[in-house]
Amino acid sequence: MSGNLMNWNFSLVASSGRSHAATSVLELNTQTRAALREKVIAFSEQFLESLPNKKAYESDCYDREAADKHFEITAGSSEVSELLKFINRRVVKPGLRPATSGHLGYIPGGGIYTSALGDYLAAVINSYAGVYYASPGAVRMENALIDWVGQLVGFTGAFGGNLTSGGSIANLTALSAAKQAKYHQGFGLNNYVIYATQQTHHSIHKALRITGLDECVLRLIPVDEQYRMQAVKLKEQISEDLDYGLNPFLVIANAGSTDVGAIDPLQQIASIAEANGIWFHVDAAYGGFFLLTEYGKQRMKGIEHADSVILDPHKGLFLPYGSGMVLVREVQHLARAFRADASYMQDTKQHRDEYSPADLSPELSKHFRGLRMWLPLKLHGVEAFRKNLEEKLALTLYLRSELQDLGFDTGPEPDLSIVPFRFVSSKTDTNAFNRQLLQYIQEDGRIFLSSTTLDDDFWLRVAILSFRTHQEDIDLLIKLLEDFLEKNGCYPL
Ligand SMILES: *Cc1c(COP(=O)(O)O)cnc(C)c1O
Repeated sequence: MSGNLMNWNFSLVASSGRSHAATSVLELNTQTRAALREKVIAFSEQFLESLPNKKAYESDCYDREAADKHFEITAGSSEVSELLKFINRRVVKPGLRPATSGHLGYIPGGGIYTSALGDYLAAVINSYAGVYYASPGAVRMENALIDWVGQLVGFTGAFGGNLTSGGSIANLTALSAAKQAKYHQGFGLNNYVIYATQQTHHSIHKALRITGLDECVLRLIPVDEQYRMQAVKLKEQISEDLDYGLNPFLVIANAGSTDVGAIDPLQQIASIAEANGIWFHVDAAYGGFFLLTEYGKQRMKGIEHADSVILDPHKGLFLPYGSGMVLVREVQHLARAFRADASYMQDTKQHRDEYSPADLSPELSKHFRGLRMWLPLKLHGVEAFRKNLEEKLALTLYLRSELQDLGFDTGPEPDLSIVPFRFVSSKTDTNAFNRQLLQYIQEDGRIFLSSTTLDDDFWLRVAILSFRTHQEDIDLLIKLLEDFLEKNGCYPL
């Protein structure tokens, strides 16, 4: 049988009074909810309680075939206890465990518990957070968060933004606004010039490709010894490009590069951008929330002149993954990039004075992200976050001096909470020795580190950003490094 719906016959299984057994399976009663919840909560409690003894990294091979059998979706139902057992074995166990205090690789994410409770409520309530008409409360909550972070950045006036799934989508959103604001159709994109550095995050390159801005000329401005953009070189390059008849259009600065944590000279770049009518974008995905500290505020002066800024609450605010934010100094540019109409949405357009998230992002229906950020900020207060970030800066200084005592080369002075390091000795091949050291740490598993390449050399790097990381974790790392050096006859010297 085919044809349209009218040719089909469906029975009203759910029609006899109030007992619609077959379809009501999806609507749980009080007792069933309690039973399920109890098991899920018990599981999460066990996870949290065991965290201090959990390795940050489990290098054991992942048994893909065995796991895939259970990932398969089937017509029948399953027991929650069985599923939790499976999740523990096949999802929680293998690989990196970002929830542990020993996660010091890449940029650690957080996972504060109160944010999980916010997510739980958001999913249960299921407010339609994309449109003001549908949920003025959810939208106002999100906009209040954007106002708060905008003020933290130093924006005033008609700024606006959006809660995104992360920094990559936030960068994409910001660059779409930049294109909308500065690019005039009819002129070839290949006459437009974008300025960045070798430290620019690869999500920017993705965003350039998606927006078509990869057709522009891309200039990587030289960095100084701290891996910060050299403002003088930027200025020189711009005037050279103007002489060529090109159109300088966008400069992308870092407020905390992922690689080494470098903060570009934002104040100087802002002046150069302004003098030349260039869109000034600051990628503060990693570093942005250090603005909560007095040091960060001083160090990132100039960020308030940016045309767009992105920050990752799932980094510096310790939220679980899935939280980024984009801010645009003049919200109209964001609206011009993303506002669209559909006839079936006509009822939602009664509030022209209030932007809805859907007007400022590629998304329409979306997770109610505000609650996972708002609830922890309200429950703990901002001061708790400030103190935790200050502790991360203190740990960075502590680690760096301990590393130097062990004889490590610690590279450029840190701007934030990332420390690259390597052991240099005439007795060993430097790159090979440091690769072995990383492998040693990874096999132990209690601490997880990652590596990078700086000026063609292999470096290990530590990034301190988890709210769970404290001095004992740094001391454990130092102990592991000392053991390795001792085993290899490099310590004590
Ligand atoms: C993490 C990071 C990004 C990407 O953010 P995601 O949340 O991982 O998508 C972009 N820029 C910088 C500087 C980052 O540290």
